Amino acid sequence: MDFTFTEEQEMFRKAAREFAETKVAPEVPAMEETGQVSDAVVKALGEAEMMALTIPEEYGGLGLGYTARLIALEEIGRVSVATAMMLQVFALGIEPIVRFANEDQKKKYLPGLAKGERLATVGVTEATGGSDPTGGRTTYKKDGDDYIVTGRKCFITNSHIANTISVLAKDEENPKAFSMFIVEKGMDGFKATHEEHKVGFKGCNTGSLTLENCRIPKENLLGIEGKGLKVSMSAIGDVGRGGMVGCALGLLTACMEESVKFSKERILYGKPISNLQMIQNKLAEMKIDLEAGRLLGYRAAALQDKGVPSANEFAVAKYFTTEAAQKAAKIAVDIHGGYGCMEEYAVSRYYRDAAVLGPSAGTSDIMKVIIARWLLA
Ligand SMILES: Cc1cc2nc3c(=O)[nH]c(=O)nc-3n(C[C@H](O)[C@H](O)[C@H](O)COP(=O)(O)OP(=O)(O)OC[C@H]3O[C@@H](n4cnc5c(N)ncnc54)[C@H](O)[C@@H]3O)c2cc1C
Repeated sequence: MDFTFTEEQEMFRKAAREFAETKVAPEVPAMEETGQVSDAVVKALGEAEMMALTIPEEYGGLGLGYTARLIALEEIGRVSVATAMMLQVFALGIEPIVRFANEDQKKKYLPGLAKGERLATVGVTEATGGSDPTGGRTTYKKDGDDYIVTGRKCFITNSHIANTISVLAKDEENPKAFSMFIVEKGMDGFKATHEEHKVGFKGCNTGSLTLENCRIPKENLLGIEGKGLKVSMSAIGDVGRGGMVGCALGLLTACMEESVKFSKERILYGKPISNLQMIQNKLAEMKIDLEAGRLLGYRAAALQDKGVPSANEFAVAKYFTTEAAQKAAKIAVDIHGGYGCMEEYAVSRYYRDAAVLGPSAGTSDIMKVIIARWLLA
């Protein structure tokens, strides 16, 4: 067992940190102000080949794997968890194509996705089915050589910027059979509709996708017809949860760093508040959670890189890190006293972002359901 990063991984972390600080950080105030995705950030992510990390080299990707992806998400999340979320879901949309697409589909979609010319997302959740994806009401039926898909997806990250979307639908005639389709922006009957206004993750677009008798050619069926639940859950299980671990670790680090900085600067009773043991206790709690969370997350990513099933390990890591980040955001605001409630202090943003961290890729309750099922199997 080796707990050290390789030299390449350390260099990659350095590059990812520099990318986050020079290309993402300057855009954060505008993202917070407008609640809109920054075109400059999306362009920079593409130019830095951040979407290519987990795409195999033979399809134009970097093939660097999931540990590298976790490093990138952690570093970007430290500066802007909204941007990390956007990037995490690009990869979540790409992964079903990497895993389940046929050769023609891979050649058609992956090179553009690697370059950031195509932007991906995944459309599973519906108003009638979040934790229970089988509750969704989006249906498909065959019509000659095409499929006709009708329904509405909600809470979809990148809804209004993505042009390559893996969508889950159920067979109109057999509601137990689900299939996954690659839907492209511009297809007849497909539209990004309602855009959400979230309390946090500003600068990461979330909204609804409407399919009204959307005609999808049979070439865009992803994987085997009737096996769509496996296609969607396979990627959500490790890539989706792993991505949220990266977002959470980034946010947790940011909370800790801002708290250390503020506690050294804030003078009370003639001394910095970092001298107070109650404050030290809070700082130590954040550090303990960060160290434990990183061990859980990077261990799961190392398994994933070896091709070992890691969805259960990611369920543990996702539960731990997202809960810890939420706790850290509360502690960070507390340490800042009244200043923590003021928008010019970054911790107020962290607090709002922490509230949004939980549900995506499955709530904490669902993580516990998965962990208990693993334990009882
Ligand atoms: C910012 C954000 C981005 C997202 N991005 C995407 C995306 O890109 N694509 C996509 O498809 N979806 C996306 N989602 C949706 C996300 O996956 C769902 O919100 C999540 O699965 C929870 O579903 P729900 O919101 O319908 O809550 P519900 O499923 O209605 O849950 C309500 C409550 O019931 C609890 N609960 C449910 N089942 C159980 C159980 N078995 N035992 C105990 N408690 C239970 C939950 O924990 C929760 O507390 C996103 C959500 C958010 C907030």
